[in-house]
Amino acid sequence: MKTNKGPSYDTIKALETAPSMFLVLSPELYIITASDMYLEATQNDRKLIVGRHIFEAFPDNPEIPNADGVKNINASLQEVLRTKKAHFMKFQRYDVPDIANPGKFITRYWDPSHTPILDEDGEISYIIQLATNVTDQVLMRRKLLASETAQAESALEVSSLISKLDLAEQELLMLNFNLEKQIDQRTEQLENSEEKYRGLIEHSPVAMQVFRGEEMRFEIVNEAMLKFLGKGPEIIGKTLFEGVPEIAGQPIVDVLYGVYHTGNSLELQAEEVVLERNGIKETGYYDVLYRPLYDGEVITGVLGIAIDVTPQVKAKLAIQESEVRFRTMAEGSGILISTIDVDGKVDYLNKTWVEFTGKKLDKLTNFGWTKLIHPDDYEQVNRSYEAAYIRKEAFANEFRLLDAEGNYRWLRLRGAPRFNADGSFAGYVCSSVDFTDEKQQLLEIEYINKALVNAIEQLEHSNSLLRDSEENLQSAFNAADLGSCTLNIKTGKTDMSPRYRSLYGLPLMGEITWDMVNAAIEPEFLPEVNLVMENAKIHGTAVDSTYAIRHLETGERRWMRVAGKVRASDDGTFSHMYLVVMDVTVQKQDEQRKNDFIAMVSHELKTPLTSLTGYTQMLLRTARKEIDEAKIGLLGKMERQLKKMAVMIDGFLNISRLEAGKIQMEVQRFDLALLIAEIGEEFYAITKSHQLLFSEMEVIWVNADRDKIGHVVNNLIANAIKYSPSGSDIMVNCEIKNRKAEFSISDKGIGVSAQDLPRLFDRYYRVQGTQVVTVSGFGIGLYLSAEIIQRHGGKIWAESELGKGSVFYFSIPLAS
Ligand code: ADP
Repeated sequence: MKTNKGPSYDTIKALETAPSMFLVLSPELYIITASDMYLEATQNDRKLIVGRHIFEAFPDNPEIPNADGVKNINASLQEVLRTKKAHFMKFQRYDVPDIANPGKFITRYWDPSHTPILDEDGEISYIIQLATNVTDQVLMRRKLLASETAQAESALEVSSLISKLDLAEQELLMLNFNLEKQIDQRTEQLENSEEKYRGLIEHSPVAMQVFRGEEMRFEIVNEAMLKFLGKGPEIIGKTLFEGVPEIAGQPIVDVLYGVYHTGNSLELQAEEVVLERNGIKETGYYDVLYRPLYDGEVITGVLGIAIDVTPQVKAKLAIQESEVRFRTMAEGSGILISTIDVDGKVDYLNKTWVEFTGKKLDKLTNFGWTKLIHPDDYEQVNRSYEAAYIRKEAFANEFRLLDAEGNYRWLRLRGAPRFNADGSFAGYVCSSVDFTDEKQQLLEIEYINKALVNAIEQLEHSNSLLRDSEENLQSAFNAADLGSCTLNIKTGKTDMSPRYRSLYGLPLMGEITWDMVNAAIEPEFLPEVNLVMENAKIHGTAVDSTYAIRHLETGERRWMRVAGKVRASDDGTFSHMYLVVMDVTVQKQDEQRKNDFIAMVSHELKTPLTSLTGYTQMLLRTARKEIDEAKIGLLGKMERQLKKMAVMIDGFLNISRLEAGKIQMEVQRFDLALLIAEIGEEFYAITKSHQLLFSEMEVIWVNADRDKIGHVVNNLIANAIKYSPSGSDIMVNCEIKNRKAEFSISDKGIGVSAQDLPRLFDRYYRVQGTQVVTVSGFGIGLYLSAEIIQRHGGKIWAESELGKGSVFYFSIPLAS
């Protein structure tokens, strides 16, 4: 034991007996002594504890793990040693060892205080630990509160808890302060973010709106959305139906409420919405997104985003519409129309295809129709299509396709590429037309072209031959002493060979006009020559004329025979005349001599014939008086024979006159039909043997010699009677044909054989045959008729069949 100043012995004794419970401790915390009451209360013996360290004498109850008596008492003592001031503790459990049961403790509660006792130096001399045993009070209080020991403890704990709580409260306050600060910050952040959120919506180029509450009040509506809705900012704060009344009843409203009630976001594509803008209801199409807005768990609104896809939808609708229009048109057209998809398959063919091919639609689609292509054309169709398909270009081809009747028809197919709105290739639209007839014509033209090329080649060849032959011809002309001339009918200019010129005595060089030629013609032939030339120019009739000229140089009279043809130009008018002239003076002189002889004989025969006729008539008169029937009969026959003879002799005289050019042409304008009718009257009167039928005739004006044409008609009617059996019909007609007056007479008589037919109009030609031997004649009538008609620029001909009958015709130009 350490000795210090400590209390005096007396003090110790006084303290030991003082009626209080205390321990006296050295500043080193060794027990100096204990009061009797203390010893009693702790059931201790002074000898056992004096001189021991306080905590050695009173350790913590080892059965209580969290006993803090030692710790708290020590803390209080240390406080006292440091401050040298008394320290009061709150009550403290501090169990004391049980003397009766060594190792065991007795539960004790104390309210200890430590008071330092200072010496004269002011240093701590000793410390009095005053402790009141409050165990009974504590236990009592426990009993009072819940009659439970634990409650006394909890009361203690409560108090410690309270102090803890105080501390906790401090911390809480601190925490609260921090929290509030954080909340303020968060609120500020939140406000900032809401500001940002609002700003984001309001300035978004995408149309957005925020609805709040069950009644869908517009909270935020950005510019773009206002534009869609066709409304102003006044709708903000209004309900959906107040702001956009026209929306009521539209499906989009149900969608919006659906999102609000279910909390499921929804996206719609190309939703049709009718909105009123500037008083006009407009239908638009929108991609719409609705997203619910939450406040915690609760849905408080809906965010709406809309993208206007009206132009795209309208374009699509327009395409669909145009597709429908196209199909309607395609169905109605007579053209074969089809479409090919992007993969090259035919996906549409119109009705015309079905009608044309007679096949069902499903047999034609895809590549079905190609089976109908002519095998020879298939390759080229395929090639042209594939080449175009690769480049997405238009194509065209021509091929044969089998039609419903099993015939191949030529089709002209054209395919134009189709493109989608985005420019992507969509296939082809094709049209085909049947051009078989055209193709046929083309083939014909092709054939004609080939023939033409051939002809041109031949022409070239002929041209060279012609050049040769022209030279030959010219030599022939020269050899035959023929003159040639080309007359331009329109200009009157001539291209005349030197021989032609020399025959007429025209200048051998320089230009020759037709008037210069006419000047050489003997005046009595001029009307006839002019008529022939006129008819040739106007009607294109051939020229064959023999006439006398006065040689322009020598003044000699010479006979010329001019023959020629007329060429028509493309417009149908006659442009050129090709003439050949030959000097027939020698032949004419021979003939003349013969004719003169015939004329002389005829003339000489006429005088005795006239006397004979006179005597016969006298004798006939006498016989009639004597009524001698036999004589009358014989003399009558004689008279008829004499008449015939006279007619024959007249014929010869006419011929000689004609050929001597002594028959004058007296051209006048007259009605040919009327002339025929007059001649018909005369024949009616005298003809009893045949049935003469004259058809109805209109007025037919001609420029001709009326008597001579009358002579021709007379002659043809007389022949018809002569060469057909009595009682048979003879039909006479005259009409306008090919701008000419055409006379015809048909009989049912003996007819003429084919070999005789071309020679009938020759001088003195008579058909040799038993049937005609009895019929008198010299073969002069038709010759004279032909001469007359030719001098009028006309034509005479006959059609006949032996034993069946004949038709004789002549035609002369109409009066212009
Ligand atoms: P003819 O004086 O011999 O009748 P034509 O010149 O008038 O002389 O006729 C020549 C010949 O043409 C005739 O001999 C006759 O053989 C034949 N002929 C003329 N007209 C007819 C006719 N209508 N039917 C049959 N033969 C005819």
